[in-house]
Amino acid sequence: MSENKIINLMTNGSEKSLIIAEELKHKFEALGYTANYDIDENAVLNICVGGDGTFLRAVHKTGFSSTPYVGINTGTLGFFQEISVLEIDKFIKNFVAGDYDMEKLDLLEGRVYSREHKEYFHNALNEFVIRSEDTSIIHLDVFIDDNHLQTFAGDALLVSTPSGSTAYNYSAGGAVLYRSLKGYQLTPLAPINSKAYRSLLNPLVLPSDSVLTLKRRPEDKAGTLVINDGLNVLCDNFDSIKIKTSDKWINKLQFNNNWYWLNIKDKFI
Ligand code: NAP
Repeated sequence: MSENKIINLMTNGSEKSLIIAEELKHKFEALGYTANYDIDENAVLNICVGGDGTFLRAVHKTGFSSTPYVGINTGTLGFFQEISVLEIDKFIKNFVAGDYDMEKLDLLEGRVYSREHKEYFHNALNEFVIRSEDTSIIHLDVFIDDNHLQTFAGDALLVSTPSGSTAYNYSAGGAVLYRSLKGYQLTPLAPINSKAYRSLLNPLVLPSDSVLTLKRRPEDKAGTLVINDGLNVLCDNFDSIKIKTSDKWINKLQFNNNWYWLNIKDKFI
């Protein structure tokens, strides 16, 4: 392990999470670590105490840092949160001994273009959702590597990473993609298939090197919401978004190699 012994602690602010975070702070400090609630970019570990929302917000707050993340589950589901409250001592012991694997979680990169040709850059760990600001139907031309595939009409298009495939994507009928698979998924939300519109009804899995472009049809008048891991970004003059697998990724500690399937069974079946 490196000489640096700084640990970043992040919580969802609930009473239970704050108590657990204080317990972690004291236990790590007794072992010579510095654990605090400010983000130090030189830290050796980011600990997220809460649920998946806490994990997602911690990843955004730390700027998709190369410092590894681990989740302590005090949330309702905790799909990213491998460590239960009862396993804290075992987790600390294994972490200090270096007894863990490092899991790479791919990110999506989204470049939003305005009609004035301005460009805005975003990363997502779970997904991007593109929908109208109000409840109106969104019309999007879908291009894969510059090939026009369809003009989508419906509630929204959702583009998820493999690790985000168990989140909103799963509720929308998308497939669960194993976390280390290289690729991403395009899932329609309430696609319209009628005499007036022809939209793909099923999710599409794309290879990680393909570029997906979603371009708003000019006849749409409502603003566009780009929802990034649950965070809404309103884009008034939205023209298009180009999405691909990012060159960046995040690292997550993994203590039990069977955890992924245990988690799927435990949380979904
Ligand atoms: P939230 O609305 O408070 O929570 C949404 C639920 O999704 C929570 O139960 C959360 O688990 C779970 N979740 C998040 N990421 C997951 C993942 N990768 N695999 C499995 N479950 C996951 O919002 P939030 O906590 O800020 O999370 C934002 C995420 O909510 C978005 O990225 C989106 O995927 C998801 N979402 C889902 C729906 C839907 O399923 N219809 C609608 C909107 C948003 P915890 O309880 O542990 O936090």
